[in-house]
Amino acid sequence: MSTTHTALELQGAEVIFPNGTRALHPTSLSFEDGAFTVFLGPSGAGKSTLLRCLNGLVTPSNGTLIAQGLGPVTTAAQRRTLRSTTGMVFQQHHLIGRLTVLDNVLMGRLGHRPGWASLGPWRRADKELALAAIERVGLIDRALHRADQLSGGQQQRVGVARALVQQPRVLLADEPVASLDPTTAERLLALMHDICRRERLCVIVSLHQVEFAKAFADRIVGLRQGAVVFDGAPGALGSDTLTTLYGTPSGGAVAAPVAGFEPMAAELKAA
Ligand code: ADP
Repeated sequence: MSTTHTALELQGAEVIFPNGTRALHPTSLSFEDGAFTVFLGPSGAGKSTLLRCLNGLVTPSNGTLIAQGLGPVTTAAQRRTLRSTTGMVFQQHHLIGRLTVLDNVLMGRLGHRPGWASLGPWRRADKELALAAIERVGLIDRALHRADQLSGGQQQRVGVARALVQQPRVLLADEPVASLDPTTAERLLALMHDICRRERLCVIVSLHQVEFAKAFADRIVGLRQGAVVFDGAPGALGSDTLTTLYGTPSGGAVAAPVAGFEPMAAELKAA
């Protein structure tokens, strides 16, 4: 039997931006290794703000973030350490199009390089890690291709590989499938789910598609107007909560489930 560890914990974290917007009401949540959590909610609900609190990009106005191995994250140095051990995947993957896949993925090692080495060639160990991550996301045959020659889904996989070479404790993804078609989105989420399981990473993904959240999440945290209105297993997410979140029992303008992805998710969960 495996023991679970808390990777990150927020205690009473509240975010009020300088313009007075309260993007996050006082929130206490903890996140375990090996669990796939989805932050679900409409645009403006506070999903990004919550993710950015978890990697130290936003400092809570009140309350505390506690990270495994660091304790309470209060100083700028601790926030830098937190970011170097937290992989981020973005909606717009932020790749450098003219660089190869390998060079883009190596960027994820920058935080692990001593400053004096940043202009020199990459160490063999870094290249090996990068190639292993590229293989992990199924793109080894594209390692030397320019990033801008890849499809949107492949570029997003490069983003995942770049996060993995950080050897993160936590992988955070802010709307990673927002610009992908449903089939490609499903494949990316299945890959992230598989990485979460096999590497026992704490993975937290923000989504606005209810069906994807239900198919892939171990836990759904539903947000509305900066407050957690649901925290539980996907099976417990009923039409009442969806109405609270989106104003309609189906979750608003959410497309029908993609044929075949629920069985695929079930298969991965059982693995
Ligand atoms: P979501 O990711 O769910 O779309 P966000 O976390 O981006 O929601 O935004 C939550 C609220 O905080 C929104 O009202 C948004 O306009 C506001 N907000 C986000 N970032 C800032 C900022 N830097 N300054 C002021 N308000 C912000």
